[in-house]
Amino acid sequence: MMGAVMNFINGAFVPSQSGQTINTVNPATGQVITTLPRSAASDVAIATQAALEAGKTWGATSMKERIAWLHRIADALEENSETIAQLESMDTGKPISLSRRVDAARSVANFRFFADYASEQEELIFSDHGAVNIVQRSPVGVVGLITPWNLPLYLLSWKVAPALLMGNTIVAKPSELTPLTAHFLAQTVKAIGLPDGVFNLVHGYGPEVGQAIVEHPHIRGISFTGGTATGKIVAATAAPMFKKLSLELGGKNATVVLEDAPLDEMMDGIVRASFTNSGQVCLCGSRILVHASLYDEFTTKFVKAVNNIKVGDPLDESTVMGSVISVDHRSKVESYIDLGLAEGGTVLTGGTSKEVPVDGVSPSGAFLRPTVIANLDPSSRTATEEIFGPVVTVHAFDSEEDAITMANMTEYGLAGSVWTGDVERGHAFAKRMESGIVWVNTWLNRDLRTPFGGVKQSGVGREGGTWSMSFFSEMTNICVQQP
Ligand code: NAD
Repeated sequence: MMGAVMNFINGAFVPSQSGQTINTVNPATGQVITTLPRSAASDVAIATQAALEAGKTWGATSMKERIAWLHRIADALEENSETIAQLESMDTGKPISLSRRVDAARSVANFRFFADYASEQEELIFSDHGAVNIVQRSPVGVVGLITPWNLPLYLLSWKVAPALLMGNTIVAKPSELTPLTAHFLAQTVKAIGLPDGVFNLVHGYGPEVGQAIVEHPHIRGISFTGGTATGKIVAATAAPMFKKLSLELGGKNATVVLEDAPLDEMMDGIVRASFTNSGQVCLCGSRILVHASLYDEFTTKFVKAVNNIKVGDPLDESTVMGSVISVDHRSKVESYIDLGLAEGGTVLTGGTSKEVPVDGVSPSGAFLRPTVIANLDPSSRTATEEIFGPVVTVHAFDSEEDAITMANMTEYGLAGSVWTGDVERGHAFAKRMESGIVWVNTWLNRDLRTPFGGVKQSGVGREGGTWSMSFFSEMTNICVQQP
């Protein structure tokens, strides 16, 4: 067993006040990796006090100094990319190739991006009527960052980097299912000498630690990524306290295949959009809408491609799909496969782990084969509720009007993709989708300067580029009348 994960408060690695711990399990083997502190409101209070104190100095540093810190963190993480990838695979069950390519690379890139991007920004100054308006960005103060398990360090660093950049100090809580890389980030900032109290980490359960962060009166901003149901609780708690709030929530994203889509060329992208990280990316396309004229050809080719996905040991270099996050989560995903059948669907490939076990993996691992369900009503529960696992539904449409209606049929509006031989047509279709981001003939292609966030029940607020910088700062205006 590796060394225990600790809270990181005021530059020190400490257990929870109560001494209680939680086991963290490798979902691909079922084995306990280590323990993490089961913290409570009292631990959050100590971390917040440390962050408040540290903020007095950190908030007064120059942007230039903070940019240098982000580069230092990026350098230190980059040197340890392989460690990050290994830890992430162990904690989540995702394939090592994906951890390297996506999780480790993007965690470094988040720090690097915000450092470079901030260097390019100019001061906001407006002159009129003989007066000069100088827009000032001050830190919010102590911010609470709460993140999920699917892309642990990727999503945490996406918040930590702009929060530090804008002069805030941090109390962060990663998912209790995936604490390892957050702990590694704490070790990294400690090693490079980031001032004590600027970055604090309190581990534990959401209703205990996360809730205490959201409730703490001295934490002035909350950036939360997680499920919509949790987001509602966070919003209800934070709103009466007038905290700045950013909510990145769930999705049920449509992948729309128009009648002119060159299927052979695009199939890899569509499969990737469906099953990357076992379908546990909030942006995965879990409802595939295909023009009726292509439906049979599409399902035949899609199922063939899905059957070629190598599901297995995450540490095997050739594995494309590892386990899901836990045996409990697998049960939830399987309950949707059962629901899909009950709702009249037909499983074209895959199925529950009892029906189609994955060969050559630990019997205690949370493995599931990628599953494709057809013949469901597009408004059925299976086709509209977030499953967040390797399950997609496929539906035929007759006209683009039908496709738009189907694409916009869910309560969510996070992401979507359109696949077509005509990019203008794709663009026109994309504009009509109620979705925070739509890709045309690509997926998960991210320019970090662009706004990221959902509409409808997929969230409130935007992150990325200037949006993150604005969220993590209080903008005020000073108007000076010229003599
Ligand atoms: P979750 O909502 O269960 O947990 C997210 C985080 O919130 C965890 O750290 C959890 O401990 C904490 N939490 C739980 N209860 C809390 C409370 N009462 N107060 C404060 N914090 C609390 O989500 P999850 O299962 O970890 O992650 C999967 C979900 O995240 C999916 O719905 C997925 O779509 C969503 N997600 C969204 C995005 C996005 O950018 N929109 C990105 C990744 C994941």
